[in-house]
Amino acid sequence: MPVSAKTAAGMKQSSWIRRMFEAGEELKNRLGPENVFDLSLGNPVDEPPPEFSRELLRQVQTPRPGMHRYMANAGYPAARNAVAAGLSKELGLDFSGGDIVMTSGAAAGLNIVLKALLNPGDEVLVISPYFPEYLNYIDNNGGVARIVETGQGFLPDPEVVKGSVSAKTRAVILNTPNNPTGVVYDYALLESLAGMLEQAGREVGHTIYIISDEPYRRLVYDGLQFSSPLNHCRASILTSSFSKDLSLPGERIGYVAVNPDIGEKNELVAGFIYANRILGFVNAPALMQNVLVNLQDVTVSVAGYQQRRDYLYQGLKNAGYDVVKPQGAFYMFPSVPDGDDVAFVHRLMEYGVLAVPGSGFGRAGCIRLSFCVDERTLQGALKRLSEAFQRGVC
Ligand code: PLP
Repeated sequence: MPVSAKTAAGMKQSSWIRRMFEAGEELKNRLGPENVFDLSLGNPVDEPPPEFSRELLRQVQTPRPGMHRYMANAGYPAARNAVAAGLSKELGLDFSGGDIVMTSGAAAGLNIVLKALLNPGDEVLVISPYFPEYLNYIDNNGGVARIVETGQGFLPDPEVVKGSVSAKTRAVILNTPNNPTGVVYDYALLESLAGMLEQAGREVGHTIYIISDEPYRRLVYDGLQFSSPLNHCRASILTSSFSKDLSLPGERIGYVAVNPDIGEKNELVAGFIYANRILGFVNAPALMQNVLVNLQDVTVSVAGYQQRRDYLYQGLKNAGYDVVKPQGAFYMFPSVPDGDDVAFVHRLMEYGVLAVPGSGFGRAGCIRLSFCVDERTLQGALKRLSEAFQRGVC
């Protein structure tokens, strides 16, 4: 076998999202693309805002010597300063450019943070349901994922989180607004989680860091005021990107920000910069860093996503689905009628609808639906989801 046993096993398991992608291609060939309604991917169809193309064009038409060369592994000072200024405004904390490391998307950010923090065998708490790549990223960097279940409403219970802490716990990953559920953690919950983690850290004799994964931070609905875990806990590190709020996932541009009030921030940032280099990311894409300097106040249409959220949520409720109303991100995570998410996803495929089984996110009995799709897809999918539900309960 040319690849290692571990790689072979990982490839065989493959993520549900990837499997649905492949099933979708097959379905499109069989039924014709116009009869397939794909809600399986978090790959927004909305184009980036016009400010992005204008700035991109400006950068390309006014080239500066050296703009395509290697740079410091942390990124351009101008990009780091711009992200720091934007974040300071958004979160009300006092970030400086030195607190920021530019990365190849949130995915690279998570990997460099984990690489810098983890000793072999250290545990990282992951709240279920979760973004499945967390488990791979933790494993990539020598850690062990410890899953923490949530109850109804998909919100973590601080006492249950505390019960999962051991002497080996190094960090907890929080993801609000959440993929796959769309839930947003409120001020009181974050306050309670932060207090509990600080206390648990004192009990085990070392700091437990919050890694706050926030690529959906700007996509919140109903006028909700987003609260970041960084506003509640000093021992915190933020990972994010422009993949979702500027619709740029293919451009691989994101950042890590260390809480400016944390004592050991210089060592942490130095660790992230080192990890960015040795993991082979080297630096975030140069052109995108330059483009983003002037786009910190720009976001895709949140109102557009809210409309799609309302349409899908109301439609699913009318059809009889049990579903938590998402307050952010662009996913919904309804329960399936007979509790068998994998069977239900296969049934949906007969209707030409692609969804991802909740099992792929650590929660059987639910399916994930993405609403970052166009109107035709959303309408066609909802009609068929309603029909499939009726068949499921009869
Ligand atoms: N974290 C979460 C919760 C995500 O949903 C995603 C992508 O879907 C990522 C991280 C990775 O984002 P990026 O494309 O910026 O690497």
